Parts: sequence; structure tokens; C-alpha cells
Amino acid sequence: MSDVKKIQMTTPLVEMDGDEMTRVLWRMIKDLLIEPFVALRTEYYDLGLNERERTRDQVTVDAAEATKRLGVAVKCATITPNAQRVEEYKLSHMWKSPNATIRAMLDGTVFRAPILARGIQPSVRSWIKPITVARHAYGDVYRNAEIRVPGPGSAEIVFTGTDGIQQRQPICDFAGPGVLQGMHNTDASIGSFARACFTYGLDVKQDVWFATKDTISKTYDHHFKDVFQAIFDAEYAEKFRAAGIEYFYTLIDDAVARIIRSQGGMVWACKNYDGDVMSDMVATAFGSLAMMTSVLVSPDGKFEYEAAHGTVTRHYYRYLKGEATSTNPVATIFAWSGALRKRGELDALPDLCAFADRLEKAVLDTIEGGRMTGDLAGLFEGEAEVLTSEGFLRAVAEVLI
Ligand code: NAP
Ligand code: MG
Repeated sequence: MSDVKKIQMTTPLVEMDGDEMTRVLWRMIKDLLIEPFVALRTEYYDLGLNERERTRDQVTVDAAEATKRLGVAVKCATITPNAQRVEEYKLSHMWKSPNATIRAMLDGTVFRAPILARGIQPSVRSWIKPITVARHAYGDVYRNAEIRVPGPGSAEIVFTGTDGIQQRQPICDFAGPGVLQGMHNTDASIGSFARACFTYGLDVKQDVWFATKDTISKTYDHHFKDVFQAIFDAEYAEKFRAAGIEYFYTLIDDAVARIIRSQGGMVWACKNYDGDVMSDMVATAFGSLAMMTSVLVSPDGKFEYEAAHGTVTRHYYRYLKGEATSTNPVATIFAWSGALRKRGELDALPDLCAFADRLEKAVLDTIEGGRMTGDLAGLFEGEAEVLTSEGFLRAVAEVLI
């Protein structure tokens, strides 16, 4: 197709490239499913680990700034360095998780929802509607301060107000070595998290559930509960009643049990760590980690779309040995379609929105027609043809043309 016949864009997307197998898929998705149809405009940031090292992670900050400026980003999965990666990539520093940096800069909430395809039954048989996990994207253990306690001694937590007044709490008298951690959150961030969840619930007309461990964490977690309730009562109760939906708070362990017994169809608001863990559980129970989309929404309406899974390292090492892998590209495709659709909505480009719909339908038609990657084949109710990543993308492209 010549460029003039392609669907036009006005504002570029912020494109954040990534690492390993998902970086390989990224290129193929653009080549086979996007660029033949859309005169793609992006502002490109390479968040691959080598470039983060070269720029001393400035590229991540620049990409987040670009998202604030342009409003919509699409991100490939990236390596979060650990000790082994520092060795493997000869890093000068154990750079922070790019996602943590971006989330902190956008002060956003991450909404993760499974992609449902007919023929792929959730492991939890009662789930007939998607469960969206809304993950608070700021603070707690992701912004902690940690100390390896070398030996006997005492630990306390101290807050010094700008007025010089201090509050102190003993933590532990260590008889021997151990570990120590300090965490925080802010009313502003908890408040935007609550508003993002209530707004999203109204948008999709689904109940909003929230849960913490307030019985044990009587100040920290309890405060989350109070902030949610105060904002709900003051700003959303009436709107929820009019929409026929509910806000419901319970203890995190009770929520887990109830979610498993439910039919799905709710927005489950989770604190940062709970959301990290529960979204992987929900995704896997709905079929595959590779069928979970993720969007970071900031309080002032900036959007960053990505797949919920990582860089699929084990597949990448096989790919490097020259083996064809059957890595599922669906969540990464939906990150692109989500970002293009949002760009289309913001720029009033109905053709771009329609293309996003067509792309997603082509993916689902391909799977529902029995052609899929290996992770899904074992879950499929009919006869499944297992394709390589590239084979699957080509099959989707055939449907799309
Ligand atoms: P992962 O990349 O999500 O992969 C874990 C396993 O899940 C894979 O080995 C594979 O299982 C299966 N899987 C995940 N995505 C798949 C897909 N698209 N198609 C088929 N199977 C898929 O998690 P990880 O191995 O824990 O992490 C790898 C790297 O990703 C780490 O460096 C981590 O820091 C990073 N990470 C990044 C993000 C992000 O950028 N958002 C999120 C999480 C992790 P089998 O091997 O059994 O086939
Ligand atoms: Mg995770």
C-alpha cells in the first residue's frame, strides 16, 4: 500500500522499545500488522538495556517526559536489572525498573484486563466476564528504603516535620543480623489512585472492589481504606447509584476468596504489590500471561499501553540459538491497538480507531479459528494448530488484509 492510502495519524505515539523476545516480536508486529496499514508516526525511545546503560537511564526519563507531552505511549517489555543482569550486560549500575520510573513520573494507576477468546476457558470455571486488576502504581515496596542489618542493634522509624517536630516508633531490637525496610505513600497518590479506579469503573460500568490488610496494618493500610471511602462518598456515590454499580471494600484475603467464587466482571483495585502478584494470577487463570493487557492511566489523562508479561527470556535464549519460538504476541499487539485507538479518539481519527478494532478482531478470529501459539494450544477446546510467533503474526495479517 502506498503511504497516501494508509491510515493517517496527526500526533505521534511515544514508542518505547524493549528487550529480548518481546523486542523481536515488536519489530515483527510493526512490519506485519501496523506499518502496512497505518502511516505510523512515533517518537521512538529505545528502552533496551544497552541504551539505558549508555544514557545512564536518561532515555527512560525522556520517554516518560514525552508521554506527559504527547499523551499516549506504547511500551515493549523491558528487563528489570538484577545482579545476574548486571553481570550479563556488564552494567555500571543496577538501573531501576523502567516501569517503576515511568509510573512514578506519571503517578498513574495500572489497569490490567485479560483478553478473552472463545474456546479458551478460564481455569476458574465460574469466571465468565473479565476481571480488571487496577494496580496502584506508586510507592510502597517499589519506593522503599532497605537496610541489611549486620548484627545486634535497634531500629526505629523517625519522621521529622518541616517544623522540626519528630515522631518516633521502635521497630525491632535485633539480637542478631536481619533485614529492615521503610515504605511510604502519599495522600495525593492514594487519592488519584481512588479517583482513577472509580472513574474507570463508571466508564466500563463495573463494580469496584478494593481490599487491603487494614486489620494488621492499622495506620498504613487503614489509611488507604479511609481515603477510598471519603472520596467515594464525596464524589462518586451518587454517580455509582445512577449507573447501577457498587463500591465494595473488604479484607485482602476475603477478596481473594470472593474473586475466585465470582463470575468476574469487576474492577479489582489493589495496592501496588498486591496488584503485581494478583494480576499475574488472574492472567494465568484466564488462560495465559500473554493474554493480559496493561494500561497506565495518569490522573490528568495520559495513557501508556503495554503487555503485562515480561521479556520472555527463556524463549529468547532459544531464539538466539536459532530455534523458532512460539511466543505469544497477543498482549503486545493489543498494546499497539489500545494506543492507536486512544490516539484516534483524542485526535478525532475514526479510521485509526476502526483499524484498532479490526486488528483486535483479526487476532481473536485467528485464535478462535484454531490457529495460535503454543501457550494457548493446550487450553483450546477444539483442534489447535500451533504456529511460531512469526507464523501466527502472518496468519493474523492474512485475516486483516
Ligand atoms: P516473563 O517474561 O513474563 O516470562 C515468564 C514465563 O511466562 C515465560 O518463560 C513463559 O513460560 C511464559 N510467558 C510469558 N509471556 C509469554 C508469551 N508472550 N508467550 C508465551 N509464553 C509467555 O517473566 P520473567 O521470565 O519473570 O521475566 C523475564 C524478564 O522480563 C525479566 O528481566 C523481568 O525483569 C522482565 N519483566 C518485564 C516486565 C515489563 O516490562 N512489563 C514485566 C515482567 C517482567 P514458558 O517458558 O514456560 O513458555
Ligand atoms: Mg510483575
